[in-house]
Amino acid sequence: MKGNVLLRTNVFICIIIIMGFIITSMVSYHSNKGVLRKDVEDISQLTSEGIYHQIDSLFAKPINISLTMANDSLLKSFLDEEVERKEDGAFIQTMKNYLLSYKEKYDYDSVFLVSTKTNRYYHFDSGVDRVLNKGNPENVWYYTFLDSPKEYDLNIDNDEVSTANNEIAVFVNCKIKDKEGKVAGVVGVGLKVASLQKMFEAYEKNFDIKAYLVDDKGNIEISTDRTGYEKTSLFEDCGFGEYKERMLADRSSDTQSFWYADKGRKGFVLTKYIPGLTWHLIIDNDTTVMESKLNRQFYVGAFVVVLIILLVLVFITSIVRKYNEQIVKLTVEYEKKHRSAFQAETEKIYESIYEIDITHNCAASEATEDYFEELGVPKDTPYDQALPIIAEKQIKEEYRTGYMATFCPGNVLKAFEEGRENLCYDFMISHDGGRTYYWMRITARVFAWEEDQSIHMFIYRQNIDEEKRHEREMIEKMERDSLTGLFNKAATQNYINRQLQEMANREFAFFILDIDNFKNVNDNLGHAAGDEVITEFAEILKNQFHDGDIVGRIGGDEFVVFIPVVSREWVERKAQFLLEVLRHGFAKDNQVCHITASIGVALVPRDGSTFEILYKNADKALYETKKRGKDGVTIF
Ligand code: GH3
Ligand code: MG
Repeated sequence: MKGNVLLRTNVFICIIIIMGFIITSMVSYHSNKGVLRKDVEDISQLTSEGIYHQIDSLFAKPINISLTMANDSLLKSFLDEEVERKEDGAFIQTMKNYLLSYKEKYDYDSVFLVSTKTNRYYHFDSGVDRVLNKGNPENVWYYTFLDSPKEYDLNIDNDEVSTANNEIAVFVNCKIKDKEGKVAGVVGVGLKVASLQKMFEAYEKNFDIKAYLVDDKGNIEISTDRTGYEKTSLFEDCGFGEYKERMLADRSSDTQSFWYADKGRKGFVLTKYIPGLTWHLIIDNDTTVMESKLNRQFYVGAFVVVLIILLVLVFITSIVRKYNEQIVKLTVEYEKKHRSAFQAETEKIYESIYEIDITHNCAASEATEDYFEELGVPKDTPYDQALPIIAEKQIKEEYRTGYMATFCPGNVLKAFEEGRENLCYDFMISHDGGRTYYWMRITARVFAWEEDQSIHMFIYRQNIDEEKRHEREMIEKMERDSLTGLFNKAATQNYINRQLQEMANREFAFFILDIDNFKNVNDNLGHAAGDEVITEFAEILKNQFHDGDIVGRIGGDEFVVFIPVVSREWVERKAQFLLEVLRHGFAKDNQVCHITASIGVALVPRDGSTFEILYKNADKALYETKKRGKDGVTIF
């Protein structure tokens, strides 16, 4: 149960942490990715714009210069005369100087002229460098260009000029036309590709992109490590091959861009057509590494969170365990404390608890045997024989019979058969050989002992002295008249009836005493004085009798005395004596009242055997006395 709660708590905490982590990670991952993509797009865009404008301005000039040269009359007349002055060194030198002047002025790597009549290749440095012929594959560019309708064209090739070390260059080729409009030659300039490549390199280094110039077929014309001379296709081994057609078909000045993911590569590609060169500028921003870095960050984050979750779980579990242990410890301690307090209190309530085997008529425990021995019962005495010994030793005489009757084996078995499992008896007991007694209650619980099918009895002894005394006091209070301390009417009636029942054979006298002319006392001396007279009268009356005699006040100035008597004569004498002692003077505030009483007597058994009849008859006798003049006695 405890483990379940712990497990559930742990799972709950895990779910909360994991959910929190997933949400925050997703949000941050997506926002990071968004920022990254935006950066990539912006950088690619800016880079492409930069490269585009640099290339545009880089090629615009040589194209213009080549076109200017193509229309130069000097060149045209040179070509006109060329065949005739083929061997004229000075003539050739003029052309060489012409080409050199352009080379020096604009710092091109190459300036050249090809004549269609002689197919001679004039160079600024080597003069007539070579004669082109159709069979040589190195000269394909020339014949292709002559066949094309283009006014000018760009061509990437190795510079075959003897002094150029075969370096790769971009050549701007321009057609020279004669008066009839026929192509008389091709003039142009060449720029080494290496310088372009350096520019690309700078961009790639600064912006972490790859830049390419490709032709209509998708072959790389210029990149940092490739030139058109090698005829390598860009789209063969890249992640954006699927966009090839769309990229190359576009001839507008707009920029096209795509996010791609293919062949294990991810990135952003951007393309822009350069009309002057008829090439496409392609910027490839490969984000594979960056994205895998981002992913790695995500995984590292996840790992850290899992680690934290585990630590939190271990921590929480250990705290909860410790807490549980502490609670258990506290509970056990509390339980112990509670139990010992309970035991102490129980021991106070029950002086001792003993067990009797009723069926086998013996003590059922060692403690019980010891206790019996303490009370003077010899060892191995049967229980029914031990009972009177214990009773005699400790219990007040009048309770012995009741005690033995309640707890004798016969009564116990009978009670058990009747389904009464509890027996109880209150009695007075002495521990000092009968000098002082106190109240004790024995409660017995009767039960069947499954082991041997016998009937057993647990006995709890409980000192109830205080309880009894309190009870006694309460009863007495209820029985007494508050003014005089004598029995009130109800108690007087009760006690008299009880004595009549208990001692049915004995003779008793029932006296009614009434103060004569008591009203006068009240009228003359006041009600408080009347009370004093009643109190005084009661005191005198009580003093004439023993403790066991019943003396009560049953009305305002009316009293009853009930006593056992020996003869009528004795009664008469006692009545006369009472008249005498009760006759007295009461002084108050210089006034004196003479108090006397009238008495009526009924005798038991002669005049009745219940309070009611005796009262009626005694009252009749009293009436006689009053009628006769009061301060006298009448026996019914
Ligand atoms: P009699 O000689 O015939 O008995 O005349 P009496 O004046 O004594 O008349 P009775 O016994 O009939 O009247 C008793 C009076 O006692 C009536 C009542 O006013 C008065 N009384 C009753 N109870 C008390 C009491 O508690 N205190 C006082 N002071 N007077 C009481
Ligand atoms: Mg009276």
